[in-house]
Amino acid sequence: MNVIAIDGPAASGKTTVGKMLAQRLGYLILDTGCMYRAVTLAALRAGVNVHDDTAVSQLAHQIDLEIQPAQNHADGRAYTLLLDGEDVTWDIRSPEVDANVSYISKYAAVRHEMVRQQRAISEQGDVVMVGRDIGTVVLPDAPLKLYITATAEERARRRLRDRQDQGNYESGYEVILADIKRRDELDSNRAHSPLKPAADAIMIDSSDHTAEEILAQILALQEALA
Ligand code: C5P
Repeated sequence: MNVIAIDGPAASGKTTVGKMLAQRLGYLILDTGCMYRAVTLAALRAGVNVHDDTAVSQLAHQIDLEIQPAQNHADGRAYTLLLDGEDVTWDIRSPEVDANVSYISKYAAVRHEMVRQQRAISEQGDVVMVGRDIGTVVLPDAPLKLYITATAEERARRRLRDRQDQGNYESGYEVILADIKRRDELDSNRAHSPLKPAADAIMIDSSDHTAEEILAQILALQEALA
């Protein structure tokens, strides 16, 4: 199986580029952030305290997550995420999930279960996997590992644009910027699988480049490996 690992901080453009890359190569795309988001949404809905490691970990083992190709949806989604059979593709993008996801993603048992499911998916076919710990923990043997960054300000501008494109005007630029910085801090400093580039990852700064330019750069790297 071919795997390409893409990591990076929130809203760095990694998912957009990952989707384009997967489409171009005919690979599956797995945006692992959606899985941690789904656990968070499940906890919020069930009234489980996100600071209760044991309760959240139990829930992570109980819920059923399924990721399906986007098919028949014209709303810009790259995939459909089912949580216990319900389509939550857009529900996991709420500011409330943004605000809580980095608490639940630090729990070792939650990560263990998500990583198990991610590895199982990678065995089903060629895959572009996007996240925070793909090159370091989930797929350490991936032949191509990329770490995509951009300044926090550029990432906040992109996130704001994405939200507005989806008709969501709930949070302004400053609120989004603060959330991005807060999540960077939590994700980078947690004990288990912190956000960091693998030693053999290729660093890409997307601040001043379009997604098409980054895609071309990655395709060239991939070709050089073949
Ligand atoms: O990529 P996205 O912003 O959707 O990820 C949401 C959150 O999920 C991150 O802020 C991080 O806390 C967590 N995450 C993680 N490991 C991954 C992917 C996401 O801890 N591989």
